[in-house]
Amino acid sequence: MSLKHTKIILFGPPASGKGTQAKVLAKLTGLPHISTGDILRNLDLNTDLGRQAKSFMDQGKLVPAEMAIQLTLDRLKKPDCQKGFILDGFPRSLEQAEALKKFLGGSDYIVIYFTLTLKEAVDRIAGRASCPQCKKPYNDKKDPPKKSGICDNCRVPLVKRDDDNEATAAKRFQVYNAETAPLLARYKKSGKLVELDATKSIEAVSKELKDLLAA
Ligand code: ADP
Repeated sequence: MSLKHTKIILFGPPASGKGTQAKVLAKLTGLPHISTGDILRNLDLNTDLGRQAKSFMDQGKLVPAEMAIQLTLDRLKKPDCQKGFILDGFPRSLEQAEALKKFLGGSDYIVIYFTLTLKEAVDRIAGRASCPQCKKPYNDKKDPPKKSGICDNCRVPLVKRDDDNEATAAKRFQVYNAETAPLLARYKKSGKLVELDATKSIEAVSKELKDLLAA
């Protein structure tokens, strides 16, 4: 697939489908999927850093900005990101946006804004689970596995993320509204923002996303 933009920032509320679409797009384009949430979840829990990150995440709070910035930008400096990347879950605050801007310098990039209602996002979090082996995401209502609670591919029980419970999810939305949503005005003003209707099916959203990014 030929792309007009190769530095792609996926932006939107929790559970808007950024991670799902990033995986589809990465397969299609060969660009690396860089998810700050995944980087944080993959930290070793036997280290202070790993334990500290998990404690913020389990409370639905952002991890400290320096931590998110350092881990994400270090990843973006790796050779595989030189041709471009799909950034998922960064930036989430003004401080992070400033750091990313500095990092990107004058280079071209696009911000895709995944739009959906708060109710839809809350329902998605309540219903979502994924395979611990192949990582395929499922949703009770919209995209259920053939056998309830079991991965179609690996036949192992699906797992829920520790932060996908009602109390933590509510806090994540609050944090999104307070700290992340204000970045929208900034990206709109810069002319880099493109809106994507994230309420549609996974396939429909993928198609729209491909069309947006194609040359
Ligand atoms: P979702 O978008 O569904 O909330 P993520 O996997 O992107 O899921 O994020 C999960 C959690 O990881 C967040 O609630 C937050 O605690 C932490 N996190 C992810 N990205 C960032 C970031 N850029 N800055 C600070 N914390 C982050």
